[in-house]
Amino acid sequence: MGSVFVTRRIPEEGPAALRAAGHEVTVSEKDGVLTREELLTALKEKQYAAVLCNLDDKIDAEVMEAAGEQCKIFANFAVGFDNFDTEAAKKRGVAMTNTPGVLTDTVAEHAFALLLAIAHRVAEADRFTRAGKYEGWGPMLLLGTDVSRKTIGIVGLGRIGSRVAHHAALGFDMRVLYYDVKRNEEFEREIRAEFRENPDDIFKEADFISVHVPLLDSTRHLVNAERLALMKPTSYLVNTSRGPVIDEAALVEALKKGSIAGAALDVFEHEPALAPGLADFENVILTPHIASATRETRAAMAKVAAENIIAVLSGGAPKNPVIQ
Ligand code: NAD
Repeated sequence: MGSVFVTRRIPEEGPAALRAAGHEVTVSEKDGVLTREELLTALKEKQYAAVLCNLDDKIDAEVMEAAGEQCKIFANFAVGFDNFDTEAAKKRGVAMTNTPGVLTDTVAEHAFALLLAIAHRVAEADRFTRAGKYEGWGPMLLLGTDVSRKTIGIVGLGRIGSRVAHHAALGFDMRVLYYDVKRNEEFEREIRAEFRENPDDIFKEADFISVHVPLLDSTRHLVNAERLALMKPTSYLVNTSRGPVIDEAALVEALKKGSIAGAALDVFEHEPALAPGLADFENVILTPHIASATRETRAAMAKVAAENIIAVLSGGAPKNPVIQ
């Protein structure tokens, strides 16, 4: 049986499943992201058979080299795997896996929570009330905007994007537009979604834009100054994908100019840092990369990551490979 390094404490369901399968588990004692040096040192100190890592652990050729030949798999505790150098892993014959599916509903819920909260000014109204500014009901107090029957633009209609589209269409009678590199005509028929070949059209037409693409070279700064300028001054931007998909400095400029109505973000371009000025806007909601953070889902993610490791260490194929 093998030894497994877990780079940061995760729900016990993960380590428990690994131990139940006979593996020895070492969980990093640091309550935080390992620095690159700490990760390299930990991997060199003991030659593990597998590593269960997080989205902040950059796994490239140097890290794989430190981990050694006997290390057969890096299992990400995330569906996004932009922290992986998959080309380097392919060359070395190391498996890399993620946790798709088990977090779809939770992230879609969070995207919708952000969308409803920004439209109804929930965070701003909470701050207002706590600050003792509430002096009684007012016909013009904190007017927001309706969500029902508005137009939502989904950028990236994958697992999470299509779930958000589903909630929008069936829960709020919204008109759904989407842009994706792959068209999904069956889904279009199912919820009457409309495909837009040019992402610019989404930015021009939608009242709410919700971003769900993975972080790739092709999606970095997909939301840039030009596309933000296409948005209506009454439109909102929601991002639960990855921070660098949005040019955050350009977003701050758009908010300053009032060329969009607001933004609700779970992820940031240089997280945990925020672009200067971003936190100063009342019409911005910021959550600290918690879109998948429910007890149920984090436990399920831990289990899936562990199961991928168990499969590979027993000589089988992992269920969720990210290297094709
Ligand atoms: P998915 O692979 O099912 O969906 C991604 C979609 O984006 C696919 O339909 C794909 O065709 C499309 N796409 C890829 N490149 C594109 C491009 N250049 N232009 C347009 N569309 C493109 O993934 P998913 O499970 O829905 O997750 C989406 C992303 O959400 C993940 O990659 C991850 O980065 C992010 N995520 C964030 C959190 C969080 O905590 N905030 C949690 C889970 C996932």
